[in-house]
Amino acid sequence: MASGLITRDKEMKKRITILPGDGIGKEVTAEGKRVLQSIAELFGHEFEFKEGLIGHEAIEKTGVALPDETLSLLKKSDAILFGAVGHPKYDNDPTLKVRPEQGLLKMRKELGLYANIRPIKLFDELLHASSIKPEILKGSDILFFRELTGDVYFGDKGRKDDGNTAYDLMIYQRYEIERIAHKAFQAAQTRKKKVTSVDKANVLESSRLWREVVQQVGKAYPDVTLEHQFIDAAAMKLIQNPRSFDVVLTGNLFGDILTDEASQIAGSMGMLASASVGDSIGLYEPIHGSAHDITGKGIANPLASILSAAFLLDISFGLKEESETVIHAVEATLKNGFRTTDIADNKISKENILNTTQMGNKVLQQIEKVASKQLIKQ
Ligand code: NAD
Repeated sequence: MASGLITRDKEMKKRITILPGDGIGKEVTAEGKRVLQSIAELFGHEFEFKEGLIGHEAIEKTGVALPDETLSLLKKSDAILFGAVGHPKYDNDPTLKVRPEQGLLKMRKELGLYANIRPIKLFDELLHASSIKPEILKGSDILFFRELTGDVYFGDKGRKDDGNTAYDLMIYQRYEIERIAHKAFQAAQTRKKKVTSVDKANVLESSRLWREVVQQVGKAYPDVTLEHQFIDAAAMKLIQNPRSFDVVLTGNLFGDILTDEASQIAGSMGMLASASVGDSIGLYEPIHGSAHDITGKGIANPLASILSAAFLLDISFGLKEESETVIHAVEATLKNGFRTTDIADNKISKENILNTTQMGNKVLQQIEKVASKQLIKQ
């Protein structure tokens, strides 16, 4: 690999913690890391990588899903690239008390990662990979803001004494809604200036507070149009007319469901990156899970992890050009006809269907090409 193609800001040493996690998390994060290493070499940055345990593997080795050692590593990092957690053992036995997802929830809480940002943008080359009609999809470009630290995930939960009654408290506090609403409105100001806030205010009191606070915050952004939709209607409109959305602002549970649905707009779960941010550190991860059905087969699509790395470069380090280099490299790889199985339609020839590492290699080649062109332009 060519090294130091673009030399600037050598001082900029950044500490990146890699959390591969479980299943295909390990497979795809390896490719995301290679991309960050390549960007560091080509653009002359110094990235220091450390690795931590989380999820099922952490439980097996330490008895907890997020060991203190990992947490203290994370707190000393400038950014985190995460894979996924999960194992069939826990999916098949919901009564197990120590669970991989506890690592994820604890990490979000401890690092104050309250806003999950998920761009849903369709690469033109994948217009036919989705089960939704191309004429409905074309031009879709949605930015989700999903709240991460409140809602039923963190409210009081349990069983009543009889064992036959269970509850999960849906709870939101004003400040939790305010801080993510500001982020969503600010993002909308740089886009089409529209925020759709999704709730269930016709039924839920926490949603009524959500709506009230979003309306109040919205007054500070008169240039942004605010609309409200109930979660049921939003779920329908998302696939009926995805182009009608710009920024979508929603709570933890509704956001979890809507963003998986929206992954179909982008063709596959394997294409979608996300950022979880608070007021300091950022965590970047694909929206997919550990995908037991394809773990170990080497066929996982690494592009969501690679695009998460691009997101990391932009949001945490302010390296716009480097981030765009990665996105253009992914675009060029798709334009050249290369696909992993999940995004291949029947027009793709067999030899262009790549495994995880081969896809990573193709993107790395394109990164070198794109970076060389940028150097010539400068
Ligand atoms: P999943 O996202 O892992 O997989 C859903 C489907 O999409 C599967 O058919 C899978 O093969 C496919 N898929 C996902 N990512 C892909 C990729 N990169 N390339 C190609 N195909 C891909 O969701 P699931 O099957 O419901 O859950 C599996 C495990 O992951 C469970 O244990 C669950 O708890 C966990 N999970 C973890 C996270 C996380 O760590 N953030 C998120 C969701 C699910």
